[in-house]
Amino acid sequence: MKGLSKPSYTKYITRTLKRFDDRNTGFSRGAVEGDKYRLMFQNGVDNVAKKLPGKTILDHAIGAAARTPDLMFRKTAYARNEPPAINKKYRLQTPDPIAMTKIIKNMARWIGSDLVAVTKLNPSWIYTNWGLHNVMYTNAAKEGDPIDIPPEYQNVIVMIHEMDYDHIRRSPAREGATSLAYSKMAWCASSLSTFIRELGYGAIPCGNELGLSIPMAVDAGLGELGRHGLLITRDFGPRIRISKVFTDLPLIADFPIDIGVQKFCEKCKLCAKHCPSRAIQDGKRTDRAWDKSNSEGLLKWPIRAMNCFEWWVKNGNGCSVCIRVCPWNKPNNLLHKFVRIFPERDLFTKLILNMDQRFGYGRQSKAKGYGSLQDPSVTKIDQTVARKGSHTNER
Ligand code: SF4
Ligand code: SF4
Repeated sequence: MKGLSKPSYTKYITRTLKRFDDRNTGFSRGAVEGDKYRLMFQNGVDNVAKKLPGKTILDHAIGAAARTPDLMFRKTAYARNEPPAINKKYRLQTPDPIAMTKIIKNMARWIGSDLVAVTKLNPSWIYTNWGLHNVMYTNAAKEGDPIDIPPEYQNVIVMIHEMDYDHIRRSPAREGATSLAYSKMAWCASSLSTFIRELGYGAIPCGNELGLSIPMAVDAGLGELGRHGLLITRDFGPRIRISKVFTDLPLIADFPIDIGVQKFCEKCKLCAKHCPSRAIQDGKRTDRAWDKSNSEGLLKWPIRAMNCFEWWVKNGNGCSVCIRVCPWNKPNNLLHKFVRIFPERDLFTKLILNMDQRFGYGRQSKAKGYGSLQDPSVTKIDQTVARKGSHTNER
């Protein structure tokens, strides 16, 4: 791993990058163009009657349960610049930025984030306007409202939340790891914001709202952008979710890193090969947008966001196939810590890819197992469903 003075993407910038409009994300367009998000959930519920492997009523309920805190916190805490709840009287007078950065990182880890780092806010990463998807979930603004972060909020604390390896291996069947990570994001970003506010400083907790999380995480040195359009971290690969807190608390920024992702992705195309919707490009980098869901001016592999989202609708639940098949998605154990020394130095990439395939990494697991939730007596239960109302004493 190399520390950099500038993020690894800067050498691929061809034009001035413009701020992105949240109304153009795949999710926001999907909410406007055919209410696709609701349709996806409806298809997911209908799947439970078909007894499809990995899409049973138990699979559905695990995913829905894991999402519970996320749905609550988004409606009450996310994207809100609230005053402190209790201490409205005192403020830490002269916080030392070096000590505060350590305290904030310790606090973030203590409340449950897996990785944490700080970056100075780059205004280019802030959305221009609210999109419908984030409006629906947070109720914090109206669609099209302009987005401005208070100018004194110069620091962004970026947190990484690992997703369960065994759950992700089930994808594109229903998995609970994504939902649980969204709940961890909500818990960590909201709790850390409360901590900062009670010290007398301002904080705005966010998941996907207000700005692009991936470039902020890259700036903070938490990883690099991959071909699949996701952040690749050193410890967990792309098997993560990102939350962030904007703040005026004085902090020291971390430096960006090079872990070898750029060169590796030029040779590996596994995500493009396995993507069920052909949303990921297998060719060379381009700075041209595929459609309005991509920004221009950066040489990368623009994702066909609507292909991806339409497949989710058809599938009846989200998809993590590009995360599952990515060779950076490995358990963070001694063996894989050792092997990643080589891609970090652009060594033996073809051999690593070959071994990865031979050992069956990235293959879909049988969708009946749930890692730590797996229990033979549970996996054998009859999951035939009946329509509600066909029995007495039902809710
Ligand atoms: S989530 Fe699934 S459909 Fe979307 S880009 Fe990844 S692999 Fe393709
Ligand atoms: S699957 Fe391969 S090409 Fe795709 S993001 Fe991962 S390393 Fe890069």
